[in-house]
Amino acid sequence: MQLYNTLSAEERAELIDQAGKQRLTLSFYAYAKIEDPKKFRDDLFIAWNALDALGRIYVAHEGINAQMNVPAENIEAFRETLEVYDFMKGIRLNVAVEHDDHAFLKLTIKVRHKIVADGLNDATFDVTNKGIHLKAKEFNEILDDPNTIVVDFRNHYESEVGHFKGAITPDVETFRESLPIINEQLQDHKEDKNLVMYCTGGIRCEKASAYFKHQGFKNVFQLEGGIINYAKQIEEEGLESKFIGKNFVFDNRLGERITDDIVSQCHQCGKPCDNHTNCENDGCHLLFIQCDECKAAMENCCSTECLEITHLPLVDQVRLRTGKQVGNKVFRKGKSESLKFKHSGDSRARLEQAKQLTDTVLATVSTRGGAERSGAKSTDIRQKIKIKKTLLGKAEHYYVKAQVGLFIIENQELNSGDKILISGPTTGNQEMVLDKMMVNGTENTMAKIGDKVTFAVPFRVRLSDKLYKILN
Ligand SMILES: [Zn+2]
Ligand SMILES: [Zn+2]
Repeated sequence: MQLYNTLSAEERAELIDQAGKQRLTLSFYAYAKIEDPKKFRDDLFIAWNALDALGRIYVAHEGINAQMNVPAENIEAFRETLEVYDFMKGIRLNVAVEHDDHAFLKLTIKVRHKIVADGLNDATFDVTNKGIHLKAKEFNEILDDPNTIVVDFRNHYESEVGHFKGAITPDVETFRESLPIINEQLQDHKEDKNLVMYCTGGIRCEKASAYFKHQGFKNVFQLEGGIINYAKQIEEEGLESKFIGKNFVFDNRLGERITDDIVSQCHQCGKPCDNHTNCENDGCHLLFIQCDECKAAMENCCSTECLEITHLPLVDQVRLRTGKQVGNKVFRKGKSESLKFKHSGDSRARLEQAKQLTDTVLATVSTRGGAERSGAKSTDIRQKIKIKKTLLGKAEHYYVKAQVGLFIIENQELNSGDKILISGPTTGNQEMVLDKMMVNGTENTMAKIGDKVTFAVPFRVRLSDKLYKILN
């Protein structure tokens, strides 16, 4: 009996493309008492593998949490595999608004200690004694009540790109950190306020609501099915979205757009942007927000250090990351000093842990899934266009003591007397007139494609800074 994947991700992607079938991205969870999680896991693998269902699923004694991708034509058969279990009878499947056939490329079912790591001793309270579930319309209504406190039970990198207006967004990296912070902050409002909570799909709030009821909160509510289900309902029922921005999701897409508002910035240049990415350096994998321009200039890296590492021979890269634990490739959170525009997740700022992120819309996207409207609030882009320039090559080295940069010419030619621009995320845009240069080791007035050029620069250049000739 086959109980594990036999195809690689690449082979699977190829097969999905060839089949050309529509697939549905969905998620669901259920709290229950599962006696034998290992057997439960194996039974599910056999049933779902036969239906060509893919995804990342966790099972534990306390229940199941699944993010999946199922061929649309198999969805009823898939539902039948769930109905076999009493605790999943009539279960709501959260079907995503946007679909990506490659959202998952393997069927991975893991047995875990818990489906939601919470740091709690479950014996002390009843996790099934949950808060009142609210549908989108009811949720909108309770948000309008001045007696309502709304709390985002997700992590800083999730709430940063999208959240409900006016929500408290704890600056935390894990769910378990939020519980005591919120409990402390709302001590005095256990009876007089509506404690309203939400998360991505509802699984975290369901546990949180039971915890806060146990802590003595009287009026505890949660958004049923989380933001995923809310997005679906506002679309179907034509309701106003009180959620602004993107819903961060845990698959290859890293985000699902709910409204056209952009509420976050590129962590490298500050331009309005809400596209998460992972640092290209395999020894880093930091999750951060990067705009297309920074992605191109930084080759998808989070810092010049990581960029330099990716340019090393593979053996050196492997040597550098030996013994370093960077954890799950999708979820390496945290903060890097080199990300100037990352405002949340900063340990110093976390003194004031339960705060509100801005509800200010920095920009809007013109069409769903389309490119960001470049002019929205950023004048930088227009300024860049005003300077007519042509790319000549890139920086290969900087000699610190001599303050000399080494550049490789990859396009056109460079002449002494040329007005040039050296540009990069750390360097910024530095203009200068080229006075004297060395071409392949000897002084010369002209350099052509393939030449190595060195000249003095009154600032530090970084590896892969771009060298341009200014034309006007
Ligand atoms: Zn940027
Ligand atoms: Zn990095």
